[in-house]
Amino acid sequence: MIDTNSEPEISVGLITGVESAKVTLSGIFSSAGLQGLTGNLSFVASQNGGISVQGASEFQAPEVILAPSDFERCRITLHDVTIGVGFHWERKEEQIFQGSLRIIAGEKGLNIINLVPLEAYLVSVISSEMSAANHSELLKAHAIVSRSWLLAQLIGGDKRSGTEEQYSKAYDNTLEINRWYSRENHSDFDVCADDHCQRYQGISKAFSASASEAVVPTRGIVAEYLDQICDARYSKCCGGLTERYSAAWENKPAPYLTSIYDGADSPGGYELPLRDEKESARWITSLPRAYCNDPPPYLLERILPGFDLETRDSYRWVVSYSSDELREIIFSKLGEDPGIILAIEPLERGASGRLIRVKISGQKRTLIVGKELEIRRALSRSHLYSSAFVVSHEESQHTGYPERFIFKGAGWGHGVGLCQIGAAVMADAGQSHERIVEHYFRGAKLKRLYD
Ligand SMILES: [Zn+2]
Ligand SMILES: [Zn+2]
Repeated sequence: MIDTNSEPEISVGLITGVESAKVTLSGIFSSAGLQGLTGNLSFVASQNGGISVQGASEFQAPEVILAPSDFERCRITLHDVTIGVGFHWERKEEQIFQGSLRIIAGEKGLNIINLVPLEAYLVSVISSEMSAANHSELLKAHAIVSRSWLLAQLIGGDKRSGTEEQYSKAYDNTLEINRWYSRENHSDFDVCADDHCQRYQGISKAFSASASEAVVPTRGIVAEYLDQICDARYSKCCGGLTERYSAAWENKPAPYLTSIYDGADSPGGYELPLRDEKESARWITSLPRAYCNDPPPYLLERILPGFDLETRDSYRWVVSYSSDELREIIFSKLGEDPGIILAIEPLERGASGRLIRVKISGQKRTLIVGKELEIRRALSRSHLYSSAFVVSHEESQHTGYPERFIFKGAGWGHGVGLCQIGAAVMADAGQSHERIVEHYFRGAKLKRLYD
């Protein structure tokens, strides 16, 4: 249990399960009695389950913690870090960190962990998530949301009251998978550095004065609902309606993570929340007005740093596959071959139109897949932008089977909580960070936990 009356230190998993890692230390570090460590060091998982350290200093240890002699001045460069694992923008980078580095030998290899004070971590998250050119009210709102999410995970992570089981069960000719991904997967550290938790790249790039100017005035401030820190989620683009928490994760009550219309009044001409398949399909295949619909290009460039510009059409999008390609993707992702795909049908949707369960009928086997991230994972080589989609197909003249599947979708990400593009549009229109947080987290109030 962490104490939130003062600034906590958190542990961030940078790399897991590698055979070796290389770092360069700038400044003087120490490790368990060894003083004066600096320069290049390599860590290799040794046969006996420990770690062999090679370079300017050589030693063996079951676990290594490199502590800086001066937090502000010392730097750790970690070479060849893979970011965006499994996503369409996966790539390798060199990254620079402040704080301590902890290296432990896990079952699958070395885990490299950064120990860093929470507020410094946040400056990096805000820098990584959003370009420094963003409006300061947006950056402040994001700092509060990221801090709230993190503290809610650290406090409540081990006492979740999910009423629903994850499962994978087979019956008749059907395999049903109901799965979601939460940070309980991490046992050796608090959060990972990827989008699974929050994207964290140390102080490598875009570590900006404006991110720090946004974080510092909000120091210690979180969103609370009935005296509990909000589990404040966020995603890139809600698609016009945010989604309920339970559509993406377990059925735990989160009244402030309900579905809201992401606009000033109402989109006009739609029955909200979306109740049936027909209304959901009409919503997804049309362009209702909303904050996140059609932001000005200059705004989009600011919200999506560098590599994310590959993905501009996030409000409404289209992806199509040949039937064979889709079959192969499903097999590679789920390890199950459905055979020739006959149909893809929605079984259950959330309030934003995001699919919670989808049925893939194949000639060999029927697969029922949920929840939203598992659906996105199963139907794309990386991940589909969102699970708010409708599927149509073209039939082959020769065989009569579907030859091509077309996915028309809305939004990017799980859509729960703050919509980053919508929030940017709100800030650009002069709305305050308090107003932005309260728009996406209904009933939440801001509170400063520590100075
Ligand atoms: Zn994670
Ligand atoms: Zn939105």
